Amino acid sequence: MTGDNLEAARCGVRSLLEAIGQDPSREGLIDTPKRVVGAMLEMTEGYGMNPKEILERQFEGDGYQDLVIVRGIRFASLCEHHLLPFVGTASVAYLPDRRVVGLSKIPRLVECFARRLQLQERMTHQIASAMNEHLKPQGVGVHVTATHQCMACRGVRQPDADMVTTTVLGQLRESASLKAEFIAATHNR
Ligand code: ZN
Repeated sequence: MTGDNLEAARCGVRSLLEAIGQDPSREGLIDTPKRVVGAMLEMTEGYGMNPKEILERQFEGDGYQDLVIVRGIRFASLCEHHLLPFVGTASVAYLPDRRVVGLSKIPRLVECFARRLQLQERMTHQIASAMNEHLKPQGVGVHVTATHQCMACRGVRQPDADMVTTTVLGQLRESASLKAEFIAATHNR
């Protein structure tokens, strides 16, 4: 973001504060536009991350041919309809076709798609598609559970409701037993 863009973005936050009847020059709010813009930039850093690069380093699985599941990956994303956070956990599974990736790469991949303006449905699908495209396993499963502040704090005001989305591709879609193994693993944490 250029200096001009940055100032325009801060100006926008000042206008928003004025629109809700606040004086942006009072002590508590004086640095708020700067902080809000900074937080927005941080929460959209995923646009600068490349899923292909994240999954680039792969190695032989030495004959391991069963499900690999990484569970409980915490993430925070921004709902693109309200610019309010949705926060939750993701579980990512794949059935290797010889090649495997390092364990830490999968949370990085989740972060790459979470740190964007998102819909939970789309994010779930993007994580699965990226695994499929760049690792080429025999199957992929992604399961995401999240609470959305736009549903908790406004609108229907349901702070305890969460949203669950699942995408299964390849063998995890075709084989009922593999899909069941994946779903069971996501529930038995
Ligand atoms: Zn929303």
